[in-house]
Amino acid sequence: MAKRILVVEDNDLNRKLFCDVLRSQGYAIEPVADGLEALDRARDFVPNLIIMDIQMPNVSGLDLIEAAKRDPVLRGIPVLAVTAYAGKGDEERIRDAGAEGYLAKPVSIGPFMAAVRALVEPVVEPVVEPVAVTPAP
Ligand code: MN
Repeated sequence: MAKRILVVEDNDLNRKLFCDVLRSQGYAIEPVADGLEALDRARDFVPNLIIMDIQMPNVSGLDLIEAAKRDPVLRGIPVLAVTAYAGKGDEERIRDAGAEGYLAKPVSIGPFMAAVRALVEPVVEPVVEPVAVTPAP
């Protein structure tokens, strides 16, 4: 079953770009333009990952991440933050808020997909086979 990704981004062009790229990789996408709708939509859509723009007009992505991480239902969903101004301390502030991933805009597709996969795809642990010990005759 396709993994689900909620894309919260107020900029139409960026949102469309993120969604197109993710759809082309087989993900099921729910776009959200208004940050104020983000948490309700996350509860309905139950995504495997939230991509969160930080700069939005009605509510900051930073506040949304903090709210999601306080929410018993949403806190387990990983968040990949994307931010236009990558000033000193921004990444730390965003990670302190609870984001598991962080990308500075402009976002190129390679690092974007790598960050998405790192958060969405289950880590495959190497299987350690027990060493067969043949008892001595
Ligand atoms: Mn924005």
